[in-house]
Amino acid sequence: MKAFITAVLPVSKTRVDLQWDLEEVTESGAFTFELERSGSPAGPWTTVETFVDVYLGADDLADESANVLSLSRDIYYRIRVVPPSGAANEFYSAVVNLDNQAETEVCGPDPAIGYKVIDPAQFETDPETNLTKRPLRGRSDVRRRLLRRKILRAEYIMLKKLNGIEFYLLKRRHFGTRCTECYDPTTRESTRSHCDVCYGTSWTGGYFNPVLLLGRRLVSQIQSDISPQTKDDINQTRIQFLDYPRLDEGDILVERAHNKRFLVKSRYFTSLKTITVHQTVSVSELQRQAKEFDVSVTLP
Ligand SMILES: [Zn+2]
Repeated sequence: MKAFITAVLPVSKTRVDLQWDLEEVTESGAFTFELERSGSPAGPWTTVETFVDVYLGADDLADESANVLSLSRDIYYRIRVVPPSGAANEFYSAVVNLDNQAETEVCGPDPAIGYKVIDPAQFETDPETNLTKRPLRGRSDVRRRLLRRKILRAEYIMLKKLNGIEFYLLKRRHFGTRCTECYDPTTRESTRSHCDVCYGTSWTGGYFNPVLLLGRRLVSQIQSDISPQTKDDINQTRIQFLDYPRLDEGDILVERAHNKRFLVKSRYFTSLKTITVHQTVSVSELQRQAKEFDVSVTLP
């Protein structure tokens, strides 16, 4: 049995419609669906809603849908399905995100690296709003999808063979439980940058689970005529990644080999043949005494 999220339809700034479907159904009875979300494709996941649907043996379960509160930053969804035979046979849909249809089924040649190439198979992005629209399965989409997959694979292999450096991406939390130690409801901010509970983010846990990515550091183009006022720019590091998962301001990157940690300041995308392939982020290196060094990741 397989579950698919078939549509992610942002309705407004605070509402998104999700639809999902089951295929190859081999059981009948009461299916439980749990819609889960996270700020990182690596979780941790929280259950948004639970649905029970009774299925009595036709080929396909009717589409289920839900409205869930969305926030302006990227959110990842997946569906957990518990069939009538019980939790031992549970399964999950692929992970889907709001703006890019992050399909985790198609992954890089080395699944261990954790990088999953997005397959925008069923979704096209609206260039105006950058939000995903209803599934489109036209011929040009297929061609575009194959081209995109080809380019991403080639880029991934190049990163892996030539100059890719392993980074952990720590997505900063932007929903969940507010910090019980330092959250000030009046200013809606953390009052302590060295808080053990939220690491100064104001959200309990501070960051989502680390995602392992390959990136490459770009050589800074230092101009000889640079003025003293722009001295800061000289120390600015730029790192390029493939375009999924999306990096946002405030996220942390951990260079795995040396445990150097960087704060993401800004991001832009680059395209090849009009297909978005890379995102480049400007980062600033964190001092060793920074609270972000307490966030634990597996180092070599
Ligand atoms: Zn705190």
